Amino acid sequence: MAARGRTTLTVQLFVMHPIRKGLEVGASIYIQLAAELAVDLKARLLRCADIKQCFRDGKELLSWLSHPRSQQELDELDASVLSHIVQAEMRPQLKLKFASHVGRPGRGRPTETKFLAVLALEAKLARPEVKWKQITGFVCQCGKLEHNDCCVENLEAQVRRLRALLRRTGLARLIIANAKPPLLKRNLQELIGEGR
Ligand SMILES: [Zn+2]
Repeated sequence: MAARGRTTLTVQLFVMHPIRKGLEVGASIYIQLAAELAVDLKARLLRCADIKQCFRDGKELLSWLSHPRSQQELDELDASVLSHIVQAEMRPQLKLKFASHVGRPGRGRPTETKFLAVLALEAKLARPEVKWKQITGFVCQCGKLEHNDCCVENLEAQVRRLRALLRRTGLARLIIANAKPPLLKRNLQELIGEGR
């Protein structure tokens, strides 16, 4: 019963969030594969490049899943990192060096727009007739009252990067194969399928 409940939930998640679920599954497959190869001494020597690539792909897939944080959350995070550095037992020069890396402009930014692209792609999957401009209005977090062409272009560019990643890692095919409802399958083929 419990196992069936879990399976049903997984299936439902695939239907509601096919891209997010696919990224999650893909990230764990790649990282697991890298780890399995890395503990095998022979594989470690022979397939060093493959191991690195698997690990990089796993990390890249994971980075699209991080939830965006507000500026206040980012500031609080920076402040707490700084207080750890100040209290740490190390030479003042080292403290300064570490502290200089905290709160760098742009930090965390790409990850945030990556997650927004996942949301946008799933919105487009659910309602293919909705224009990217409208979807931008829902997901863009630039802070402007009216989102302009630049916002739409940025979002579309990030979605293109996501689509390319899903294809390169073979996840696009896996996600399409896992989609059971015919309408979702068709929309997925249309949006992330090989032909496009
Ligand atoms: Zn905007």
